[in-house]
Amino acid sequence: MRRVSLLGATGSIGDSALDVIARHPGRYTVAALAAHRNAGKLAALCGRFRPALAALLDVEAARVLERELAGQGLPTRVLAGPAGLLEVARCAEADTVLAAIVGAAGLEPTIAAARAGKRLLVANKEALVIGGAAFMRAAREGGATILPIDSEHNAVFQCLPPGYAGDPARAGIRRLLLTASGGPFRLRAVDDLGAVTPDEACAHPNWRMGRKVSVDSATMMNKGLEVIEAHHLFGAPASAIEVVIHPQSVVHSLVEYVDGSVLAQLGHPDMRTPIAQALAWPERIDSGVGRLDLAALAALSFEAPDPARFPCLGLAYEALDAGGSATVVLNAANEVAVAAFLAGRASYPAIAATCAATLARVPRRAVATLADALDADAEARRAACAILGLPADAAGVPLAA
Ligand code: NDP
Repeated sequence: MRRVSLLGATGSIGDSALDVIARHPGRYTVAALAAHRNAGKLAALCGRFRPALAALLDVEAARVLERELAGQGLPTRVLAGPAGLLEVARCAEADTVLAAIVGAAGLEPTIAAARAGKRLLVANKEALVIGGAAFMRAAREGGATILPIDSEHNAVFQCLPPGYAGDPARAGIRRLLLTASGGPFRLRAVDDLGAVTPDEACAHPNWRMGRKVSVDSATMMNKGLEVIEAHHLFGAPASAIEVVIHPQSVVHSLVEYVDGSVLAQLGHPDMRTPIAQALAWPERIDSGVGRLDLAALAALSFEAPDPARFPCLGLAYEALDAGGSATVVLNAANEVAVAAFLAGRASYPAIAATCAATLARVPRRAVATLADALDADAEARRAACAILGLPADAAGVPLAA
């Protein structure tokens, strides 16, 4: 029986994970649940899954949750604030942690779970982008097992040789090919993108996801962050990671070997598949996802990404090449700009423009420790706000633990 903590339990990944867990009551129990402020949904989840712990970052919302659970007569202990999230990440009640908080806010709890040596299912790509080498070191030193559930990285993971040790050349790997759907604006005239709304940007053709990652998919910053994530997870240089647009989202990524073999993982675009794969690894369990009918699919197509339509992808490669704090700065600028776009305070093209201007304005520094990364994150958030003409309190203060 595995005991699972979910960070980001009320989100889209949380929903998919709890759906898989509920299908296997003999294999998994829910030990702890954490979210930001959605007390109503977390209370309902506590009633259904009866975890030992529940935490909300928002202290007021945690009080509401506590009253609600007491009213239901549930024994779940309620925690509040950054310390509550950290306890959910490293509590003794859980051996497995799903890291699915959105954005940089997930960094510290995810690293805490790595240090605590958990079996760690990582969806929160921003934690890897910011934490990078420090995150991977924490996992090694803590004895954690990292299992990627971002669908592309999970696909790569499934196509790697058993016991892969982070060195593509030694494993005979020529390149990793990450697929991208191209999002809702793949065919929209570039000149029309200035007028697109948040709801249009969030209307992803294949995946149902939270709003931040949906906007990132539209700009392809999502793929850029995934290139950085793949670099850290699999030890591959940027030159060995390529992106290809695949509008059907059936091939989730591929690994090319030096003998010319290309291995791919296919499936319906449904996050329950990678989550079930990682939960059960190295075994396999039913995820509830339907079978793939290749004859009905008939055709799968691929195309190169257009750099003029998707400037954010190029920025991610530039930041990875630049090294040091550049990827942290890019991620922070993107979080500020996407939040401003979703709030109607910035246009869609301003997202890429803000990322480029923030990268140009904030000097690149060495990142030796997590503290260095957090300093770069804070500096970039301030710069991005200034570039967008927003007050500093629009920067988001996710790194509070
Ligand atoms: P959602 O927006 O649907 O959910 C976000 C979750 O994080 C919610 O539980 C939210 O709580 C919680 N949260 C937000 N901010 C904070 C905070 N400051 N502290 C603690 N908890 C917080 O996002 P998704 O589920 O779509 O995405 C989660 C992560 O997974 C992202 O990093 C995304 O890039 C990645 N991912 C998502 C995929 C998908 O298909 N959705 C696919 C691959 C990766 P509350 O509800 O209380 O606000």
